[in-house]
Amino acid sequence: MTNPILKRALATWGEQAQMLMVVEEMSELMKEILKNINRKKDNIAEIIEETADVEIMLEQLKENYQIVEKVAAYKADKIKMIESRLNEWDKTHPKAEEK
Ligand SMILES: [Mg+2]
Repeated sequence: MTNPILKRALATWGEQAQMLMVVEEMSELMKEILKNINRKKDNIAEIIEETADVEIMLEQLKENYQIVEKVAAYKADKIKMIESRLNEWDKTHPKAEEK
């Protein structure tokens, strides 16, 4: 279920402005991740802020395209797929203590 305040933001500021904000916030998060990895910057506060911004905007994106349930179902399937890949990985990459 979409947060009612975020539904209100989408209704008030409109699809175009909010979908552009999705992209803007994702780029801000990308920038902080790159600073953290490439420049070894201690910017966890910025990463926290930008992650929250992206989550807020992704919630509006899902509401805008009316794909909340479909994304949740897809995500659940993908997580199951990741789990089976991890199980395969564990079989072929024994942990140090098992060697
Ligand atoms: Mg931001």
